[in-house]
Amino acid sequence: MFAADFLTDFHLVATIGATPHNGVDRQAATVDDATSRAWFSNWVTDAGYTLKVDGIGNMFALIEWTAGAPFVLVGSHLDSQPLGGRFDGAYGVLAALHAAKNVDEQVRASPTVPPFNLAVVNWFNEEGGRFAPSIMGSSVFANIFDQESMLDTTDLAGVSVRAALNDIGYLGTDPRPTAVSYAEIHIEQGRILEREGIAIGVVDRSWYTQKLDIEVLGEQSHTGATAMADRHDALVAAAKIILLVQDVTNEFAAEAIVSSVGQLTLQPNSPIVVARRVKLVADLRSGDPQIVHTARAILLEKIAALAVEHDIQINVTDFDIRPIRYFPENGMHLAEAAAVRAGLSTRRIQTMAGHDSVAMNTIVPSIMLFVPSVDGVSHCEREFTTDADMVAGLALLTEVTTDLVNGALVEPALASESSTRA
Ligand SMILES: [Zn+2]
Repeated sequence: MFAADFLTDFHLVATIGATPHNGVDRQAATVDDATSRAWFSNWVTDAGYTLKVDGIGNMFALIEWTAGAPFVLVGSHLDSQPLGGRFDGAYGVLAALHAAKNVDEQVRASPTVPPFNLAVVNWFNEEGGRFAPSIMGSSVFANIFDQESMLDTTDLAGVSVRAALNDIGYLGTDPRPTAVSYAEIHIEQGRILEREGIAIGVVDRSWYTQKLDIEVLGEQSHTGATAMADRHDALVAAAKIILLVQDVTNEFAAEAIVSSVGQLTLQPNSPIVVARRVKLVADLRSGDPQIVHTARAILLEKIAALAVEHDIQINVTDFDIRPIRYFPENGMHLAEAAAVRAGLSTRRIQTMAGHDSVAMNTIVPSIMLFVPSVDGVSHCEREFTTDADMVAGLALLTEVTTDLVNGALVEPALASESSTRA
């Protein structure tokens, strides 16, 4: 049965790169990422679909009913954070595969052919844990990031995306399918749906986000022999910056802004040496860009004062600034009408996290759906969504995908005039 097959596959994929407490660790272009990719590839070819891999490691399962017609894309990502959850991304890919198979069976049983073809996609490096920036594969697809510079990006060990993809055999050369629309389903990663007892979140927009790359330059010295007054300890200043990044959120209304320092590297990282250099990455997000701008200004001022106080150099660079993106109203209506047919409750919801759909929505009309997250936790082993909620989301994604391939969101006139049944 449709739902049972999906659950079997979902729980099987959760064993790839499994961690001791029900999470997964499948960072981009690692051995475990390659194993989940091989699983995807086998599933796709077993189902009789065509597998393509592009130059940034995105994988596409093509279901071509009409030769030459553009594709509706449905998918998410199989990569994870280090010690991440088994639902983030993987749910969307597994739901997309099973929704696509269901739609394909409907099409083959029907005398009419839909105007658009269908492709399931596993985007490369959505998480950005190993290689920054995140949302890499879909952003290259959407021409937001340049492919060559992304391939040259390195992890903390100095390995490039190009070398890592080549090592696992997924530096592809296939042309990309032409997309006409996109749909993605994902866990909420917050607790709004759970709190309100609603089955589906229909995402109307993404939050404004920006990162600050902060480099603290002190002076290396002996942790035992150097007098306290003579120390220029980069780590002490960095510790104060971490607290500033947290405390700045108190300047605004509750839940208006979120921020954290998530990455820190220090040199030389020896127990007997005062740190000479610390690099931190701060992540600031809000539904209101002005709040992020104000928080950034407060931080820059306080960090400058800290540099003077500690007689140390601190360089702050803006990077990875992502504006608010709005999902199209007609796509949200389509999803809400499909949810009514499926007997599922919905509400409009904003996404604080970035998603492949946010990148795709810049080039084609996109639909983003959420299912509830238990306790709202994500990017950790405790991440959880029930089988029942996943199956409900799968039913909705199947309805939405059917509408999309039938041209309910984008005019079928865009399809090639000369298309013939493949
Ligand atoms: Zn995700």
